[in-house]
Parts: sequence; C-alpha cells; structure tokens
Amino acid sequence: MDGDKGLVALSATVKHFLSQPKKALIGGKWLAAQSGKTFDVHDPSNGQVIAKVAACEKADVDLAVAAARKAFDQGPWPRMSPAARGKIIWKIGELIYHHLEDLAQLESLDNGKPIAVARAADVVLAADLFQYMAGWATKIEGHTIPLSVPYTPDAEYHAFTRREPVGVVAQIIPWNFPLLMAAWKLGPVLATGCTVVLKVAEETPLSGLRLAEICQEAGVPDGVINLLTGFGETCGAPLAAHPQVNKVAFTGSTEVGKLIVRAAADDLKKVTLELGGKSPNIVLDDADLELAIPGAASAIFFNHGQCCCAGSRLFVQEKVYDKVVEGVTKIAKAIKLGPGLDPNTEMGPLVSQLQLDRVSNYLQWGSEEGAKAMTGGKRRGERGYFVEPTVLVNTHADMKVYREEIFGPVVVAIPFKEVDDELIRRANDSVYGLAAGVFSANIGKAHRLAARLRAGTVWVNCYNIFDAALPFGGYKQSGWGREMGHQVLENYLETKAVCVNL
Ligand code: NAP
Ligand code: MG
Repeated sequence: MDGDKGLVALSATVKHFLSQPKKALIGGKWLAAQSGKTFDVHDPSNGQVIAKVAACEKADVDLAVAAARKAFDQGPWPRMSPAARGKIIWKIGELIYHHLEDLAQLESLDNGKPIAVARAADVVLAADLFQYMAGWATKIEGHTIPLSVPYTPDAEYHAFTRREPVGVVAQIIPWNFPLLMAAWKLGPVLATGCTVVLKVAEETPLSGLRLAEICQEAGVPDGVINLLTGFGETCGAPLAAHPQVNKVAFTGSTEVGKLIVRAAADDLKKVTLELGGKSPNIVLDDADLELAIPGAASAIFFNHGQCCCAGSRLFVQEKVYDKVVEGVTKIAKAIKLGPGLDPNTEMGPLVSQLQLDRVSNYLQWGSEEGAKAMTGGKRRGERGYFVEPTVLVNTHADMKVYREEIFGPVVVAIPFKEVDDELIRRANDSVYGLAAGVFSANIGKAHRLAARLRAGTVWVNCYNIFDAALPFGGYKQSGWGREMGHQVLENYLETKAVCVNL
C-alpha cells in the first residue's frame, strides 16, 4: 500500500483492451449504449478510473433480447449438432487458458483480488467450467417410458421424453468473482442450446467483456451471447421483467433476488437464484487444529470475505475455543493487505466505496452492540477500500453482525459446549442455508453433522472447495436451483413428453 511500486506490469494486450471504448455486445456487434451514456470503472486499490463502459438501459435491453430471441428462434445454435456445440464450448475453455495472464490481470485490477488468486483460482475454474460443460452438450438425454394407459387396453404406444432448451435466458451477476460467475452462468446456457442476455456487475464489467470477445473468437454464433454493462435498476430490472425472456438466472443479494422473482412473476418466467449466506463453520474439540485453524481463517478471509458461502459464523467447541480464536487472530494479523496487482498481496481492497461503507457500518454496529475485536475492526489507510481482517468475540444471536451477511473479512467466533441438538439448532438458526463447514477427526460425528446442517454444501475438514462437477446452491433464502454439476442443466431445460400411437 505504499504507492504503486512493485505491481505486476499490465501486459500490452491488457493496456490495449483498456484503451478501447467499452461497448455492449448485441447480435454479434459491439454497440455503444443507445443513449450514448457511459460510466466509470474504478481500481478499488486507489479509486482511479481505469475504463469507461456503456451505460445500457431499457432500449439496449430491448435490442439485446430481440437479438437473443432471433438467435434462438431462427439461428443455428439450438439446431447445431450437440458435438459441434460442445467443440465450441471446449474451445472457449482453451482460449481462456491461452489468455490466462491477461484475464487474471483484468480481474485483479477491476475487482481488487490478489493476482495470484485470480491466476490460480478464478481464471482456471472458469476455463474448467466451460470444458466440463462442453462434455454435457452431447449427453442431454430423455427417457423412453413404457405406458399402461388403462382406458386404451388394446393400443400400443412409443413414449419418450426430449430435453429441450428453455429459450432466451436473462442472467444477472455480481462483482465478487466476475469472470467465474459469468462462466458458471454461460457454460450451461451454451451446453443446453439456449441463448442469453448477460448483465455483468457495474463494479466489475471488464473480464466479462473480454470473455464475450473470447466466446466470439471460439465460434459462438451472433446473438447467442449478448452482454450488457449497466446498473441494476436501469438495466437489470428491465431485463428481468422483459416479456420475451423465458428464464432468469440471478446471482447476488437476497434482497435483489426477491425483486427478480417479483419482476419475473407477471410472465411466470422460470427463475433460479444464487443468493447470500451466513454460513456456520463448526470446529469440534477433536479436530486437527493444524487443519482447522487455517481452514477457519481461509473460510472467512478468502476473497476478502466477499463470498456468498463465507464461513462467517465460526462455532468452536469450548475446550479448543481459546486456541482456535487465538490461531485465527494470529493469521488475520499477519495477512498482507495491498493492491491486487502486488504479487505479495494476500488480501486486496473491498470492491467499492459502497462495499467499504457497508462493511464499516457493520463494524460500527458490532462495537456499539458490545462485540469485541480480537484484531481488525476498522478500515486500513485512507486510499482504496481496504478493511482489516477482523475476528469478533462476545457476540450474541440477536446482533446484526451475528445474523446478517456482512460480505467482508469479518468473522464472529462463537463457543459451544456439546455436539448436540442445541448446536444444530444454533448452526441452522439463519434465514440462509448456502454452505457449512465441519472440522473433526471423528468421521462419524462429522457425517452426522453434515446430514443435519440445512445447507446446500457442507465441507468437512476443508472449506471453499469448488469443482465444475460439484453442484452449488442454497437452501432457504440462499436460493433456488443449483449452479454447476449436471444439476445446473435442469435450470435451462424443458421436458417434452412425446407419445406415439403405434
Ligand atoms: P446486488 O445489488 O444484488 O447485485 C447483483 C446484481 O444484480 C448486479 O449486477 C446488480 O446491478 C443487479 N441488480 C441490482 N438491483 C437490481 C434490480 N432491481 N433488478 C435487477 N438486477 C439488479 O448486490 P450488490 O449491491 O452488488 O451487493 C449487495 C450485497 O449483496 C452484498 O453486500 C452481499 O451481501 C450480497 N452479495 C451476494 C453475492 C452472492 O454471490 N450471493 C454477490 C454479491 C453481493 P449493479 O451492478 O448495478 O449493482
Ligand atoms: Mg448493487
């Protein structure tokens, strides 16, 4: 955080990309917003403007949906052989690997995440997701179904199901993993033969724009992927409500998720949602603490706590509570904060001034309500949106910091006595149900806990393990449907029953 010395130098291609006007992709053409308006994109480590992008609004949404509609109703994509579609999707993955360093630089610059993390996790997982989904294009199968129809005893039927693409999809994504969220969303759309209008987050539009170029280069036909940059209220809302859209897939806050459901209700569009969390991470007194302590720290501090599945409620059994809290505190104190592009940075800035304000408010409320910070608890420096990794103790279940999603590097540590019904009740005592963690050397106890936690993912003796094959999504107010795995294909498919009288 001492000036810009030692930062990774941006590649010539990234510099060139940033210097070009940033437009929306509609029907295979890059277009300025119909209004001519643009907005600024900032480097969160210093607040400087790094690009200007099109401020798309309803007029642009209308054009993009019309292009997606045309590509679905008349274009080659849904009619192309599954193998040909799969090859194009595979190629997207190859091109992402080919441009790994450029994509990592853009992601780190735009979002603030450490470049090493962008290289090792975000970009690679995005490439992998496309290559996993490429394989599914040829494996979307129906069933043959033997019929008994009691009122036509003499007839014979050949009955089967076809899985067909749901149609034009609207997708809206957040800023915490900009490239990866775009990949999670676009991969299954392409595998199932749908077409899409994707609105990327206002804070982090750059890697999505670059990904759209890559998809064009891989051979995705015009109009199949349309990409809009713009604000939630003026671009996302008309997209979610558009009558020509068949399905909406959203990732973001639970609050906006509810608005999406309302916007989609008039036309009864299909909706899937991947929303917030306040995930319990439970350390038993028999756990290997050399695994559990760094595990608990990375559960909350990975991506600066800006993870929907962050392990933000750390339950620790009394016998090891002091040791675990001390250990996590020690790790938090040692985390090196700095710009994402500094190769020594372990934690970058939060994504925006707004996010800094939100997290700062929680820290303030926590302290007013009597929580004690073992470390952290405040902003770091005056430049950029840095917050110190924070461990809070002396909290109770009716405090805001204990109940609400903070989406920053702030964990509440909570002691418990026994692994019993009361522990399960407390762990499940949240409107959310996205993820949970269990650290224990007793495999039986760990499995019994995993079965009773009301969450879409339970990590045992690990945390934040993602794989394109592993479904991810939420119970309760953490969402509807699943991302990744073969389950995500269901989000984008209709089932048609065909019954033939022989
Ligand atoms: P958000 O408002 O839910 O934003 C997510 C996406 O929805 C963005 O593209 C956003 O546009 C768009 N959007 C906003 N209002 C909309 C509307 N009325 N109709 C359609 N689309 C709309 O999330 P945020 O403001 O970035 O962050 C707020 C909080 O959400 C965070 O503090 C965190 O608690 C939570 N969050 C959760 C996740 C997750 O992965 N589950 C991710 C990010 C944030 P803009 O780009 O203009 O905002
Ligand atoms: Mg927002």
